[in-house]
Amino acid sequence: MATPDWNAVLDDLAAAGWTARVVRATRMDDIRDRVAGVLASGELPGPTAAELEGVVAFAWPAGVTEPRAVVVGATARPLTRATLTLDGETREVVVPPHYAGYRTVPDGLAAALSAALAPSGASAARFEPPLKTLAACAGLARYGRNNIAYVQGSLGSYLMLAAAVTDAAPPADDVWGEPQQLDRCERCSACLRACPSGAIRADRFLLQTDRCLTGVNEDEAPFPDWVDPAWHHCAVGCLRCQQACPENAGVDLVVAPAEVFDDDETAAVLAATPAEELGAATRDKLCRCGLDYSPTLIARNLRVLLGR
Ligand code: SF4
Ligand code: SF4
Repeated sequence: MATPDWNAVLDDLAAAGWTARVVRATRMDDIRDRVAGVLASGELPGPTAAELEGVVAFAWPAGVTEPRAVVVGATARPLTRATLTLDGETREVVVPPHYAGYRTVPDGLAAALSAALAPSGASAARFEPPLKTLAACAGLARYGRNNIAYVQGSLGSYLMLAAAVTDAAPPADDVWGEPQQLDRCERCSACLRACPSGAIRADRFLLQTDRCLTGVNEDEAPFPDWVDPAWHHCAVGCLRCQQACPENAGVDLVVAPAEVFDDDETAAVLAATPAEELGAATRDKLCRCGLDYSPTLIARNLRVLLGR
């Protein structure tokens, strides 16, 4: 199969809303080694390499018989909102940009890539390697001091990453290298000052992930004693460092219309009602505002936000 005109393919992806890079599929060996090295170093708490295999997919997806190139892309995502109704009064809660559509939006990259490669007869499929590491090594994103991936320019950190693999021949000159941090981090401490939990430290660049509020409120485990309930300001996750970051100052963050939950719907969500027991309309609203996973986790977070 001939090498496609990758510049034209990346232009097509851009037209579909994806800022993207393409690398050789063999680069995934380096990703695996890097992740294993970080885990083995003990610098970060987290899963073992064996556990990681169950979280991210290093195995190639079905549908591409001879993986040769990997495309990693970033697309802008909106801040989403939910208006909850309690005893006739409403309270709005926000959800950071990368939650809504986390199951489905990444399919868009594989679909756009398939369409762009269709003339060459190549196929493409969604792929779930460690996306931040891939995006950073491929030169698509840079790390901030808050361990968040930034695509400088119009996206900042308000984005969703995705990857797709294809049997199309990769470019001979793919960009690959050490992950880079934002230049601005050398002279900036805005996120450090904004972080409520002390997860961003002055004495090292690596985030202290076990102190990050996002990790805490994305986890089913009870909140640790050191978490001040007043720190929570999102239905899940945390936005403080991203909102404080000057790299995001020029980003045109879209704020989605609030999904409104009436008294009965709010009560059902706060009661951690399983999705299959909710009405279809309620499920759709939860999906649109990014609250469509673990009902117990979401209910716990919302109860803290609402002081219930
Ligand atoms: S997400 Fe929140 S808790 Fe985590 S580093 Fe950023 S500001 Fe700190
Ligand atoms: S707030 Fe400053 S230090 Fe933190 S990620 Fe942004 S540029 Fe870097």
